[in-house]
Amino acid sequence: MCKTNSKIRVVMVETTHPGNIGAVARVMKNMCLSSLYLVKPRTFPSEEAIARSSGAVDVLENAVVTQSLEEAVADCVLVVGTSARQRSVNWPVDTPRESAERLVSVATDEKPVALVFGRESSGLTNEELDLCQYLVHIPSNPEYSSLNVAMAAQVLTYEILLAHQQQEVTEKSAQTEEVSPQLTSGQMQHFYRHLEQALVDIDFMDMRQSEKLMRRLKRLFFRADPSEDEMNILRGILSAAQGKRSMTSGDKRSPK
Ligand code: SAH
Repeated sequence: MCKTNSKIRVVMVETTHPGNIGAVARVMKNMCLSSLYLVKPRTFPSEEAIARSSGAVDVLENAVVTQSLEEAVADCVLVVGTSARQRSVNWPVDTPRESAERLVSVATDEKPVALVFGRESSGLTNEELDLCQYLVHIPSNPEYSSLNVAMAAQVLTYEILLAHQQQEVTEKSAQTEEVSPQLTSGQMQHFYRHLEQALVDIDFMDMRQSEKLMRRLKRLFFRADPSEDEMNILRGILSAAQGKRSMTSGDKRSPK
């Protein structure tokens, strides 16, 4: 089950073929999106759209029809336009992956974002592109670069799904880190003193050369960022090594 993402809005501008609206609704539901806006669709609602949606009728039923793109994106904090051509002018052009990451990272419940698709025949007008902060272009044959609008929606919403999943993984691992707090500097220093003593006890290190070696080892453990449990394992290993050494050398000093 995917969590439906209603913060990312798909906007279709003046779509001519209702079948394309249905196909996009299907793609959206497949990719866990639910918010569809239609700017002046030629035919809507329509039986053909319902048929092509293959059961994603809920997306069609909840679609919002507006009279302009400006109206459709008025409450959005980020608007990304799609372009079938590599435009060289004013707009920064993202790859599908970049645009998905941008949309997913900016969207919140209170601040929706929009991905805007153009007319089948002529794409988006310059006035409409002026409402977009970024463009996204799907890399394709430069001599035949225009995908069917629903196919383009498939590629871009798939990237959004991946970016969304990645965001959830990152958030989860951030939460796990919170649950197991990392060690304090005091605990780390305590461990370093134990480590230093153990290295001397097992004759790995003599005190004269200890400073340089300890600095390198500290860097290593700093990078490893051990948890409290991992630190206890390490200290257990040190104590065991010290114990073995004191038995073989007849040194009766108890390990730390
Ligand atoms: N002749 C139009 C093509 C429109 S294709 C033009 O040159 O602009 C219809 C819509 O599908 C486009 O407006 C865009 O939303 C989407 N689309 C098609 N190919 C695309 C591509 N390679 N990259 C991004 N979007 C694309």
